[in-house]
Amino acid sequence: MITIKSKREISLMRDSGRVAASVLEELKRIVEPGITTAELDKVAERMIRKAGGEPAFLGYQGFPASICASVNSEVVHGIPGLRRLAEGDIISIDLGVVLKGYYSDTAITIGVGRISPEAVRLLDVTRASLEKGIAAMRVGGHLSDISHAVQTHVEANGFSVVYSYAGHGIGTAMHEEPQVPNLGPPGHGPRLQRGMVLAIEPMVNLGAAEVEVDDDGWTVRTEDGSLSAHFEHSVALGEDGPEILTIL
Ligand code: MG
Repeated sequence: MITIKSKREISLMRDSGRVAASVLEELKRIVEPGITTAELDKVAERMIRKAGGEPAFLGYQGFPASICASVNSEVVHGIPGLRRLAEGDIISIDLGVVLKGYYSDTAITIGVGRISPEAVRLLDVTRASLEKGIAAMRVGGHLSDISHAVQTHVEANGFSVVYSYAGHGIGTAMHEEPQVPNLGPPGHGPRLQRGMVLAIEPMVNLGAAEVEVDDDGWTVRTEDGSLSAHFEHSVALGEDGPEILTIL
């Protein structure tokens, strides 16, 4: 069942989303060659708790950290650790916050120092595909209109959409119905209604779409070793259109 959120609930989700956005803003500021992903995780946890929230990922199905930190060919669910970021790396940081019982979920891919023109383009196309997906979220439209908008933009630019993972509804749980795939024909799935809140999260590979999971049981990486990017926002649908909640 897809839950419809009241104005009061969306307001609470806005508060949660603002905390998540402020953490990503800070992480973006401090990412530089030499910093470890564990240090980024510590900063995120401290900021979330200071804001009165809890890290939604920590302990989720046993996940050991507050952020997912996925570097280069890692797609999602990378575990923070002692790895030091190097000039030219790209790092996808995904984080969730729960504040007063309401979840927010957001992700960004950041370049470490100077990155290759190819990597810049991957980040630009992935970010833009999220924007296209959000723009396709209209009252009376269909869920797969979002999926189609993401896929169309990514493939028009010669990259691949990861099909093994999808976005999701979000609210009083991190993962609610419906699943929000990043590909598919338009005009399918449930009708979009005011009060729906979706986490839309394109994962885009520079090479082929196939991914595999590491021996750690979490880290998802591209099968062909190509770079991968991930951008995500939690988005509420209002009468006048979509509203990004994970924003300052
Ligand atoms: Mg998500």
